[in-house]
Amino acid sequence: MHGKVAIVTGSSRGIGREIALALAKRGVNVVLNYQKDKASAEAVACEIRALGAQAEVVEADVRHYDQAQRLAERAMDRFGRIDVLVNNAGITRDKTFRKMLPEHWHEVIDVNLHGVFNATKAVIEPMCDQRSGCIVSISSIIGEMGNAGQANYAASKAAIIGFTKSLAKEMARHNVRVNAVAPGFTETDMLVAVPDEAKEKILTQIPLGTFASPQDVAHGVLYLCDESGRHITGHVLSINGGMYV
Ligand code: NAP
Repeated sequence: MHGKVAIVTGSSRGIGREIALALAKRGVNVVLNYQKDKASAEAVACEIRALGAQAEVVEADVRHYDQAQRLAERAMDRFGRIDVLVNNAGITRDKTFRKMLPEHWHEVIDVNLHGVFNATKAVIEPMCDQRSGCIVSISSIIGEMGNAGQANYAASKAAIIGFTKSLAKEMARHNVRVNAVAPGFTETDMLVAVPDEAKEKILTQIPLGTFASPQDVAHGVLYLCDESGRHITGHVLSINGGMYV
């Protein structure tokens, strides 16, 4: 993968950060993206440069079509190509459905689903022109099995699976592969928000008995993006410790 160029949305922390670092360790130049936390994104860029790869940091809110376009333009201006897009930026606004307000619904759908549309639109023409590309979107086990209190999040993550399978069929003839990764519960800030009691209960439901690390998810993304994944498209790779529905 040496010398290739990747955009990773939401790569200032958590899973996105680990994906960016894993790509950089393979010699991939990475366009990092954040919404609010510039300092953390710059820190990831320093780590990437220390690994010998190049990094560009771009503030962009993936909810906005024009900002996603700017993200891809910055990648093209700096590197002249885009080989990989990882649609990773995501949020939760957990509420039981009776307490869920329209803003909780719209915020999650805007970031998790419209963000995927926006960033993918921004890279698809360069990838088709190159006749190569790899898009990986981060779905979730919640999109596969549902979860009380997460109807908004589950809907957004299930939609990513339908999007991935459809786009894979459209893009195969352009040699652009489109896949998703569906992590189970993974140790990031997102999991910190879950109360300890609920986490204990979740752990009892994971056959392997531990939460995923962000690195576990990053390894799956790497597998899909590099040569080992060259015949894989339209696939959803579950990384969940055996917690199948
Ligand atoms: P996280 O630690 O909360 O990090 C979220 C990242 O997304 C941050 O870099 C954040 O940027 C960025 N972001 C949020 N809103 C954005 C926006 N509008 N535009 C651009 N960037 C935005 O989350 P995580 O746990 O690493 O999750 C990463 C992905 O994995 C998400 O799609 C999540 O749904 C999925 N996932 C997570 C788990 C889990 O258990 N953690 C399980 C399954 C799937 P700032 O720092 O600038 O705010």
